[in-house]
Amino acid sequence: MDKKLFLAPSMGCCDLFDFAHQVEVIDARADFLHIDIKDGNYVKTYSIGPDFMASLAPHVSAPMDAHLMVRHPQWIVEECAKAGAAYITPHTDCIESDAFITFNKIISLGCKAGVALNPAASLEAIRPYLHLLSKVTIMIVDAGYAGQRVIEQMYSKIRTLASMRQDQGLDFLIEADGSMNADVYRPLYEAGADIVVLGSPALWSKDPDIEKAWGIMQSEIDSALEDAVRP
Ligand code: ZN
Repeated sequence: MDKKLFLAPSMGCCDLFDFAHQVEVIDARADFLHIDIKDGNYVKTYSIGPDFMASLAPHVSAPMDAHLMVRHPQWIVEECAKAGAAYITPHTDCIESDAFITFNKIISLGCKAGVALNPAASLEAIRPYLHLLSKVTIMIVDAGYAGQRVIEQMYSKIRTLASMRQDQGLDFLIEADGSMNADVYRPLYEAGADIVVLGSPALWSKDPDIEKAWGIMQSEIDSALEDAVRP
């Protein structure tokens, strides 16, 4: 079966006491390594930063994507690029006043530009700079907080984005992020998502042994997508 969804585990979820092993297992299987960076301001929670990516960089080959849940992303874009990010993904409402400067800076640093939209953010906001983007991340819950229910309206947002992409002849990837679980792979894929971000409920909580956990997650995806079709 051809791969239908690319997988982007959120590496901050790795078990610190089994870290090197989990990174090795995941890097050999994942399509992207998703790095969730939270500043305690744009979202009221904290997490890892660019130094985490810099530590991973010599040990991984999958492309790292810095998802910046950060109020002023311009200040760490350069640090993320230096740390080895392949993609840098700020949020729409953190770059409203300097979107073009931010994306051009990301691109000039040799990285691919992504953008993330919280559930309440409008797709119209990204229309002017869609052509600069390699990836658009649709948050299917509010960014930064664990344990939320997936907002089903986001399937139609992804569908709309997929048709914007087609109408404009663009090729950016569409990523779905937040509270990922076995119930949503199929509707996300059918709506037009290319990448799913995997957090603890989708991967790590399946089994303490990361190889077993990966196998369980993969078979959940395979059975969810078995006869799924893109519109
Ligand atoms: Zn994320």
